[in-house]
Amino acid sequence: MPTTTRRQFLLDTLVLAASFPAFYSPLTAKADSNAPISSRNVRFLLRNDADYAKHRQIFNKRITAMPKIIAVCINEKGVQEAVTYAQTAKLPVAIKSGGHSFEGFSTNDGGLMLDLSGMNKPKYNKTTKRLTIQPGAKLGKVYEYLHQYGRLIPAGSCAGVGVAGLTLGGGYGFFARQLGLTCDSLQRVRMVDGKGQLHDSNNNPELLWGCKGGGNGNFGIITELEFNTHPAPSYFSSYRYKYRNLTPSSATQLAERWFDWMKTLPNTAYSSWVLNGKHVTVIVTDTSNTASTSLKTILAKLKAGATETLTPRKDAFLPGIQRYKGGVDPMYFKNVSAGYYRDFTDIKTLLPTICKQIAAAKLTTILQINTLGGAINNPTLEATAAYPHRAFGYLGELQTYYDKATQTNMAEHIVRDIQGMLTAGGIKAHYRNYPDVELPNWEAAYYGNSYPRLQALKRQFDPDNLIRHPQSVKL
Ligand SMILES: Cc1cc2nc3c(=O)[nH]c(=O)nc-3n(C[C@H](O)[C@H](O)[C@H](O)COP(=O)(O)OP(=O)(O)OC[C@H]3O[C@@H](n4cnc5c(N)ncnc54)[C@H](O)[C@@H]3O)c2cc1C
Repeated sequence: MPTTTRRQFLLDTLVLAASFPAFYSPLTAKADSNAPISSRNVRFLLRNDADYAKHRQIFNKRITAMPKIIAVCINEKGVQEAVTYAQTAKLPVAIKSGGHSFEGFSTNDGGLMLDLSGMNKPKYNKTTKRLTIQPGAKLGKVYEYLHQYGRLIPAGSCAGVGVAGLTLGGGYGFFARQLGLTCDSLQRVRMVDGKGQLHDSNNNPELLWGCKGGGNGNFGIITELEFNTHPAPSYFSSYRYKYRNLTPSSATQLAERWFDWMKTLPNTAYSSWVLNGKHVTVIVTDTSNTASTSLKTILAKLKAGATETLTPRKDAFLPGIQRYKGGVDPMYFKNVSAGYYRDFTDIKTLLPTICKQIAAAKLTTILQINTLGGAINNPTLEATAAYPHRAFGYLGELQTYYDKATQTNMAEHIVRDIQGMLTAGGIKAHYRNYPDVELPNWEAAYYGNSYPRLQALKRQFDPDNLIRHPQSVKL
């Protein structure tokens, strides 16, 4: 080879190598003609690959599923390549963005897991005031990124939760009573369907509708989300009251009062009633510059009966919400939706027995009831989103935490018993983002009247049911 040609060859090789991610190492098809071939867009990992364990890990250590192959996607094209491979190899596809699914719906046993956690770039447009973001971005980073522009999207508080999983199931948090659910700010998505085809919801309004509360691992892989953003408040105030050593009856009475007081909670505020064993903590947060009279009245009532009042805080917005960012290390838990409630009467007769069960539980067991309402209830949003639960003012979450894999059965047993009481007591509506794999009639519980329309989207975009998990929309 002449020198110039060889130099050119070396240069070309160098340029080519530089354009691949550092980890690129093609899997050859020699050993197995069905083996996937990595590219600059996607890296396939088999169970014996060194990085497999890192990418397999999700937030809930209770889930032990082992995908046959993990496709670590670098970009949208990589998602398409991975789906095409899954079709050929006839492998069911699970989608991991933030990996925080309570039931591990972002992984599977023996199938293909798409790991989108590396697709996490945000881009804010100052003119349109819109945020375009990839699915693997985590909420902590989203708040931080938008803060430099003085903006936010109303989302949850835990920093490790993925923006895709949160939004596609609805998404609520401290700002939802003022600004609506996370999905209410969603304006557009891009999606790879079960055939590997790319779609833009600008050409398909029904797709956008489905992704507002009904899009979690059901009919396609969302590769990009575009949101309207909102001005970030200047302050984030929080108040905390503890009520110790309650009996089931006194805990129930406190809940009744809390429900009553929440009727006048301003929309800038949020509250939760949290029963942990025999103790209740009430949290209130607020984003107004100065607490309104109605909020002050509620705070005074909360303080009057409390065993302990923590010093109220008024922080600047970002550090204020960061105090609620939670842990990022995976942990053992069995958490589920404990149902939506219109008011206290929905759980009045159930609560004393549930409080008794929680007090007697051998693992840390918590019932948390959160305020919804406000902007979420806006009836004009009803037709815009698959999310079907706007009429409910409250959402319950049952949580069990533990330390060792050997306690999994006990945790599941505790939750099963209490969920059984709720079901028997007539609680039928549940939050899709707090799934319970044992829930009967989950289709109606999560999606209500939206379910048949979601099935139509499933038939349109994933007729082979390639994308699936135990509670994905059926054909
Ligand atoms: C610690 C913790 C705190 C939480 N706090 C809140 C809260 O404040 N408010 C709230 O509303 N919820 C909250 N949740 C629930 C949370 O919204 C859901 O668990 C959510 O689905 C997690 O999204 P993810 O991307 O992190 O999870 P993943 O496990 O990656 O995915 C969750 C689900 O979404 C699907 N999915 C993920 N990415 C895509 C995609 N790109 N395209 C299509 N489908 C996809 C998956 O199939 C799976 O079913 C919390 C959960 C945890 C564990």
